[in-house]
Amino acid sequence: MNTQDTAMTSIGKMQNIQNLLSKIVGPEFVLTSLEEREKHSKVTLPYKKVCSVVVYPASVEEVQKIILLANEFNFKIWPFSRGNNWGYGTKNSLEEDSIIIILERMNKIIEVNEELAYVVVEPGVSQKQLNDYLKEKKLKLWMDCTDSTPNGSVLGNAVERGYGYTPYGDHFGHLCGMEVILPTGEIIKTGGEHAKAKTWNTHKWGSGPYLEGLFSQSNMGVVVKAGIWLMPEPEHFVLFNFETYDDTQLPKIIDSLREMSLKKIIQCHTHMVNDFQMLSVLSRYPYELRKGKKYLSDDTLSELKTKLKIPSWSMIGGVYGQKAVVEINCALIKKELSKYGDILFLDDKKMSFSKKFIKISQKNKNIEDITLLGKIIKPLISTKPMKAIHLLPEVFDILKGIPNESIISSSYFKSSKLPPASGCNPAEDGCGLMWLAPTISAKGSEAQRILDVVKPIYREYGFEFSGCFTLMNSRTFFVLMGIFFNQEDSDERERALYLYKALESKTKKEGFIQYRLGNAAMEQFMVEFPEAGKFLNKIKTIVDPKNILAPSKYINNKLK
Ligand code: ADP
Repeated sequence: MNTQDTAMTSIGKMQNIQNLLSKIVGPEFVLTSLEEREKHSKVTLPYKKVCSVVVYPASVEEVQKIILLANEFNFKIWPFSRGNNWGYGTKNSLEEDSIIIILERMNKIIEVNEELAYVVVEPGVSQKQLNDYLKEKKLKLWMDCTDSTPNGSVLGNAVERGYGYTPYGDHFGHLCGMEVILPTGEIIKTGGEHAKAKTWNTHKWGSGPYLEGLFSQSNMGVVVKAGIWLMPEPEHFVLFNFETYDDTQLPKIIDSLREMSLKKIIQCHTHMVNDFQMLSVLSRYPYELRKGKKYLSDDTLSELKTKLKIPSWSMIGGVYGQKAVVEINCALIKKELSKYGDILFLDDKKMSFSKKFIKISQKNKNIEDITLLGKIIKPLISTKPMKAIHLLPEVFDILKGIPNESIISSSYFKSSKLPPASGCNPAEDGCGLMWLAPTISAKGSEAQRILDVVKPIYREYGFEFSGCFTLMNSRTFFVLMGIFFNQEDSDERERALYLYKALESKTKKEGFIQYRLGNAAMEQFMVEFPEAGKFLNKIKTIVDPKNILAPSKYINNKLK
C-alpha cells in the first residue's frame, strides 16, 4: 500500500469510528469539524495537541460502550470531567489525534446525606451546581471549592487531588467511594465492594488493599461516580487576612503555620501569595514599565508595590467551628502572626459592614468623606488598596465554599483580552499560563531554599517570580508557581516552556516533588521514578492491555 492508500484507510477507519460513536451518544454529541476540534484543544500552555474527535456521553452505559469500542478499534481516549484544568493541560491529551471524552452531561447529584454529611456525584457536577443545590435545598452543609472556575468539576478536581481552603480542602482526602469503568469495560466499586456494604461513602479504606489511589492522578479507569464529604455548616466562621511588607519574615511565618497547624489551631489550608501573584489578581500586567527589558526590574516592582500598597506576602485563611473555639483560635493566630505583620479578622457581621462600605466607596471615591461607616471599617482595612478591599467579600465566599471567579480572572493578567464579567475561560480566550506545584516540608528553611532555587531561574528566562505557599497538611506546603506569558508573543511562549522545564528539573533535583503534574511534566515523570514506575506500569499493562486510556498520563507504558 502506498502512502496515499494508507492515509485513505486511516480516514475511512476514523469515519467508521465517528459513525459508531454517533450511534452510541447521538450525532449531535460527536464533534468532528476542525473548528470544533481546535476550539476544544485550546490551552493556556505554550503548545497544544489537537484532538481528532470530541464525544459527550450522557451515561455510564455510553461511556462503557465507548471504551469497548476503543478496545475493538484500537483508538486512544482521554476522559475529562468538565475539562477546565487550566494551567496544567485543559482538555489536551499528550498525543495528537486522541479522542476526547467530556463527561459534563453526566451531572446528577445522586445522593445527599445530610446526617452523615456527604454527597454522591457524577463527573459533570460543577462546583457552582453543587453549591447552588446545597443552598436551594437549605441543607446545613458546606462544600469546599477551589479558587478556580465555578464551572470546574467537583469530582474531576478530587481525582486530580486538587486543593481548596476549608478544613475539607484536601479534595481527594475527602473523596470516599468511587465507581469506575476500567479500560477493558468492567465496572468496579472501590471501598471493599461488598454487596451489603453500607459504608461505601463513609469508610474510606474499605477492606483489603486500598484501591482508590489507583484511579487518582492516573490512567487506570474512568471515574463515573464518587462520594464527596461535606462540612456541616459551622456555628461560626472568621476569615483572617495577614500581610507583611518584610520579605525576610517568610521562614518564621512558615514555621509558625506548621506549629499552629500541628496544634490544630489552624485547620484550614492557608494560601500565602507573593507580591507578583497579588499584582496579577489586582491589576493588568504593566508592559509599559518594562523599559525595553523582558521583565519588570526589581526597582520597578518595588515602586509598583509601594504605589499599589501590595505586601511582600499576603495570606488568607479561615477559622471554623463553635463560636467559643473560633474566638480562642483567632486570638492565638493573632498573637502568633502579628509578630510578623498585620492581621485582619472578618466575621459575617464585619463582612456585611465591609460590603456596605464597598458599595458606598464605589460611588464615592473619597473614602475620607464617608463618616461613620468609614470610621468603623477603615481602621480595619486602611492599609489595603481599594481593589483588594473589593475582593474581600468574594474571597470570604470562597472560604465558605461558594465558588466565584475573583481569583481565576488573574489568568488574563498578560492577555490582550480583559476577563469577561462572568464565564472566564482563559484557554478559549488565548491566555498564557502554566502552573507548577512543587511540595516542600513545612519548615521555614525549606521555604527559603525553594525561593533561593527558583527565583534566579525565573530571572534567567526573563520572567517575574509568582508563587503561593499553600498549607497542604501540618507537615507539607505546596508552592504554586505561575508562569504568566503572552500567547501572542512567540519568544515569550518559548521562554515560558523553557522556564517550566528548568524549574521542573531543578526543583525535582532538590527533592521538591510536584503534588500534581501538568502535561509538560508527564514525559519525565516515570523516568525519575524507576522502581515504583515499573510496578505501576505492570499494573497498567494488565488493566489496560491495549493501552487505550490516556497513554502516558502519569503512568508511562513505554517504561520497561
Ligand atoms: P475540571 O473540570 O475540574 O477542570 P478536568 O475534567 O479537567 O477537571 O479533570 C482534571 C484532570 O483529571 C483531567 O486531566 C483528567 O485527566 C482527570 N479526570 C477528570 N475527570 C476524570 C474522570 N472522571 N475519570 C478519570 N480521570 C479524570
